[in-house]
Amino acid sequence: MNNKIRYNNANRFFREKFGDKIIKVALDGGFTCPNRDGTLSYGGCIFCSEKGSGDFAGDRSLDIENQFEISKKKMNEKWKNGKYIAYFQAFTNTYAPLDYLKEIFTKASNLPDVVGIFIATRPDCITEDIAKFLSKLNEKIYVCIELGFQTSKKESIQLINRCYENEVFENCVKMLNKYNIDIIVHTILGLPYEDKKDMLNTIKYVSKFNISGIKLQLLHIIKDTSLHKLYVKKPFKTLTLEEYIDIVVSCIEILPPNIVIHRITGDGDKATLVEPKWSLNKKVVLNGINKELNTRNTFQGRLFGLF
Ligand code: SF4
Repeated sequence: MNNKIRYNNANRFFREKFGDKIIKVALDGGFTCPNRDGTLSYGGCIFCSEKGSGDFAGDRSLDIENQFEISKKKMNEKWKNGKYIAYFQAFTNTYAPLDYLKEIFTKASNLPDVVGIFIATRPDCITEDIAKFLSKLNEKIYVCIELGFQTSKKESIQLINRCYENEVFENCVKMLNKYNIDIIVHTILGLPYEDKKDMLNTIKYVSKFNISGIKLQLLHIIKDTSLHKLYVKKPFKTLTLEEYIDIVVSCIEILPPNIVIHRITGDGDKATLVEPKWSLNKKVVLNGINKELNTRNTFQGRLFGLF
């Protein structure tokens, strides 16, 4: 078996779905987050950067069309041809009145060569009306919701200040399923005081639901976040490269075979990443994962449902 088919990666999914190379353009819709504006808390999730975990998004002072043009130009220096996904990543991108959401996502759907809209949000910020609208939009252009979940472990949910219970996630997934909207779930590997078993439990938990994709994100300690402050005050163990590779490969083995893995490491920013520094060398991480998959002669879904 060759590397390319040991797990479902996003590039392959996009090429099969859209018949082209897909470039994700991060746009900033000017949103905030209930976990930061005082509605739920002021602190936010402890790992979240001041840009709402959307550090590669466009300039929020510009309108969507301008942000798109600027990002597209930059991207075209690297990739000449392809189609685009409008990616709303920073903060909570459904946390606004429905009329505003209709306006901004309809604008995004009309951008040239955009074939899909990806919307990152919290499961407690999607109402039935929002889901209905997105389902309608989904008839015109591919719409996918990315849910920040991170972990299923109760103690970790408290520690990271996620501010919603697992049941909220479950209800949201069921509602989005009802409206046939694809879901990608964000998980974090390496949260403080979690061991391999805890991380695999999170993967098993999300695998029970009807989701189309997952992001396996290595925990990044970003400068000046609450997580960074905790790390300085009371240092906790971070994953080594070898441990991360072992855990990711084990996650791949227990994931359902049909789920698309949209992220398998993370894009750290050299200027703000405190730990783990080894993750800045993405090529080494990806090669290590592929090598381990080969060594174990394993693949996505090999152990799905067995534990
Ligand atoms: S929900 Fe998202 S934007 Fe809000 S604090 Fe958590 S990570 Fe940041």
